[in-house]
Amino acid sequence: MTIQAADEPRFRVPLTAPDQILAELSAEEVRQHLRALQAVTEAILAHLTLPELLRELLDRLRAILGVDAATVLLCSEEGSTLVVRASSGLEEELEHPVEIPVGQGITGAVAARRQPVIVDDVSRFETVSPGLQRLSSMMVAPLLAEGDLLGVLHLGTVAPRTFTARDLYLLQVVADRVAMAVKNALLYDRAQEQVQAREAAEAAHREAEERFRIYAESASDAIFAIDEESIVQYANPAVERIFGYRPEELAGRSLSMLIPERMREAHQQGMAHFVATGRRRIPWDGVELPGLHRDGREIALEISFGAYTRGGRRFFTGIARDVTERVRQQEQLESLAAELEATVEELKVRTADAEAANRAKTDFLAVMSHELRTPLAAILGYAQLLEMGLPEPVPEGDRKHVERIGAAARHQLALVEEILTFSQLQAGRAEARPEPMDLVAVTREAADMIAPGAAAKGLMLSLEGPDALPLFSDPARIRQVLANILSNALKFTREGGIRVRVEEAGEGTLVSVEDTGIGIAADDLERIFDPFWQVRQSASREVEGSGLGLSVSRRIAEELLGGQVTVESTPGAGSTFRLHLPAGRAPVGE
Ligand code: ADP
Repeated sequence: MTIQAADEPRFRVPLTAPDQILAELSAEEVRQHLRALQAVTEAILAHLTLPELLRELLDRLRAILGVDAATVLLCSEEGSTLVVRASSGLEEELEHPVEIPVGQGITGAVAARRQPVIVDDVSRFETVSPGLQRLSSMMVAPLLAEGDLLGVLHLGTVAPRTFTARDLYLLQVVADRVAMAVKNALLYDRAQEQVQAREAAEAAHREAEERFRIYAESASDAIFAIDEESIVQYANPAVERIFGYRPEELAGRSLSMLIPERMREAHQQGMAHFVATGRRRIPWDGVELPGLHRDGREIALEISFGAYTRGGRRFFTGIARDVTERVRQQEQLESLAAELEATVEELKVRTADAEAANRAKTDFLAVMSHELRTPLAAILGYAQLLEMGLPEPVPEGDRKHVERIGAAARHQLALVEEILTFSQLQAGRAEARPEPMDLVAVTREAADMIAPGAAAKGLMLSLEGPDALPLFSDPARIRQVLANILSNALKFTREGGIRVRVEEAGEGTLVSVEDTGIGIAADDLERIFDPFWQVRQSASREVEGSGLGLSVSRRIAEELLGGQVTVESTPGAGSTFRLHLPAGRAPVGE
């Protein structure tokens, strides 16, 4: 759409000099000329905003010059395009403004040449603005103000009309006035925009200040602003709660009144150092410092600092939080932790002592029980020889005595064993020696031990179960547990009997010992497993016991055999003790 060189002759640019035109004007033309200028000037005086001004000007021009359309296009800011800004007669151009590059189309060419032109036949030109196609003839003049191109003004008629050099001259004269007016209006608009921008900035500033004031006034931390001399410029209401002064009592006074005496020098030096070098001596984002309350006491503060410049002066801000309570709690925690540590140390020492004592006790018991067992074994052995009538039969009157010696020695030996196992368990030294074994055989051995006693009391003693039940476990420990349960059954049963049963149960095996003895009260059922505990009743007085048997049995079952001992009982009817053992298969490779 560039206007090519070939098109150029179609523009008519009359070469008559302005002075000559002026001299040749008729009285009527001069009158018209003056009327146009007057109309333009009036419009310029009456309006200040650009759109109103242009609209008014164009209406008047159109009427005075008897044309169908008068339009103003203004340059974009960087000056490379033109856009319709006002029109009288070509309003549709305003609705869909087209950006016309300077140099293109009729108007673009005039802007580039800065020369007014007459176009006799618009249809011969390619036009950028669709509205122009309605026009037949046009006059186009650049809007120039003090050498600056502001835009283009054009007039046009729907019917063909031959504009003269005088018409064009008149148009340019009017265009010059319009250009001045446009320039002024643009300046006015720009000034107006600047005023508005400043007002908006001021409003934003006021709002920011207001917002800051609200934050500061409602903050629970004390907020200060001081100048380089540490004079308080601002203090928020929270200072009263923290320091005991109202904000107005601090304003204009030195911040040092809130600093403990011993810290004032350091504060002043720190300030001077920063003012001189711009370097900080302490971290600014939360440092713990003491403050001075009005009543003279020190308070623990956590303070964050900031600096800003206003009107060429430097100011500092401080946000102080009272952390007295936190510091107190921290100190308390620290002292508690120290105490705890001391206690732990003490406990460690005591535990070590206790462990040493325990080891000594276990060692002592092991030695002692060995020493006790040796003579007991001798007593038992000789008693058995005598019972068997070796080397010669014991006189009938002495037999009973020999039997009693044997029974007492056996009992004593069992007690020694019990105490030894107990102390080994306590010291964590007891261990099991599992091996392939037959649970039925072990149970029979244990039952055999109480058989003579049962017979003597006239009690039935039965053993039920399979012929054999192989197991991988510790036969000595199992025997120890069963012996204990069976001797209790014998001790606490006066009539009836004791039924022993070996069976497989679920995943494991079970030996149950059911007696028809005195039974155990429900309240005592768990306590009988406590060490040294015996049911306080006349029945237990008749029988001896250490009160260790069941406690040791349960621990052997649980800690060494991986099983458990349970009890069920009905007072007056009898008890059933059960030893549960895991399947305990032989480990692979055994
Ligand atoms: P002790 O050496 O006194 O028998 P145990 O630990 O073996 O100690 O038993 C603790 C207590 O449990 C016994 O004193 C007794 O009161 C009660 N007890 C144990 N077995 C039976 C039972 N079969 N029938 C009734 N009471 C029992």
